[in-house]
Amino acid sequence: MTKVFLKKKIQNRVLQGHPWIFGNEVGEIQGPVDAGDIVDVFTHSGHFLGRGYINPQSQILVRLLTRDKDEQIDAEFFYRRLLKAWKYRQQIGYTENCRLVFGEADEMPALVIDKFNDYFVLQTLALGMDKWKGAIVDALTKIFSPKGIYERNDVPVRELEGMQQQKGFLSAPFDTNIIIRENGLQFHVDIENGQKTGYFLDQQDNRRAIQHIVKDADVLEAFCYTGTFSCHAGYYGAKSVLGLDISEHAVNTARKNAQLNNLEDKCKFQAVNAFDVLKQWTKEEKKFDVVILDPPAFTKSRENIQKAITGYKEINLRGMKLLKPGGFLVTASCTNLVPPSMFLEIIDMAAKDAKKKLRQVTFQTQAQDHPILWNIENTTYLKFLIVEVQ
Ligand code: SAH
Repeated sequence: MTKVFLKKKIQNRVLQGHPWIFGNEVGEIQGPVDAGDIVDVFTHSGHFLGRGYINPQSQILVRLLTRDKDEQIDAEFFYRRLLKAWKYRQQIGYTENCRLVFGEADEMPALVIDKFNDYFVLQTLALGMDKWKGAIVDALTKIFSPKGIYERNDVPVRELEGMQQQKGFLSAPFDTNIIIRENGLQFHVDIENGQKTGYFLDQQDNRRAIQHIVKDADVLEAFCYTGTFSCHAGYYGAKSVLGLDISEHAVNTARKNAQLNNLEDKCKFQAVNAFDVLKQWTKEEKKFDVVILDPPAFTKSRENIQKAITGYKEINLRGMKLLKPGGFLVTASCTNLVPPSMFLEIIDMAAKDAKKKLRQVTFQTQAQDHPILWNIENTTYLKFLIVEVQ
């Protein structure tokens, strides 16, 4: 097996448990370097560090899969890891729908698997993981006897690994429009054409967090996607709910979701650019009791972080202005490029500019089925804040 030796100075991060090895951290490689192959990684002085997959096309040269010298990477390995991930979800009580595998946090770098009851949606975002897709599908079949498995690898990041974007069935074809249950409601999920894997499971705990503040309230939700927060607001007793999203497809599904839950009289949706509407309605001095904001990432790269900061600040400032005194702002950010402390600073800046005082109700992160590993910063990616705005 090919041996990768780290440079002398930089092995601490990896020793402390981080599974990524960047190209510029490697001193010497002994043996052939074939993209996607399994290699052994050693310290400068030859101490075994772990075993993982290599890709010279990627900035992350090696991602470690195991630290156990005696553990082989084969189909059996993926079966064991999937069982372990499933056992963990069962222990913490996320079984019907859950993120079954959350990449690095489940010791399977660049692998994402969402479980929607009997259906599974999979993403293999690095070449070295993609090579094991067959073994992963076999393991899923063995453990769950699924009704369907689908690949949502239509993700640009795959191109950095020298792979194509693609999507399609990994099992016998099935109807990819399914219905899932969450918090006592039901939601349509379009596995084939929905965003990401079709549904944002990471907000499932946070959707429950609005239960009390929306009672009898007029609620505005911008960036509503398929209306999941909006439907929760209706279900929890809001007086009226208006959801906005730029995607017609999302808004149509949101309307269907409202119907599915008998909330179509209360929950209305519009396909519009939320930036324009928030600006216009601030000028018109429209007011709501609760404003919910769950925008997209705004940037995918650290270089453009300022763009994200500006975007978050603008919508939150407008959201605050659209609230009646004592109203609640529910606001989220899903990019790991904005850490929790920076997110709170942005909200603070927005409040100062809007001349508002904030009282924090709760500050949360992603649902528990997306575990946070303390030594891997980007496993904490979702920020979810509720504040009372005076
Ligand atoms: N809260 C949702 C997820 C929102 S994802 C849930 O829990 O399911 C972010 C959404 O913002 C996407 O649906 C995307 O279509 C929408 N979006 C992106 N830019 C927008 C814009 N300028 N105006 C309105 N919606 C936008």
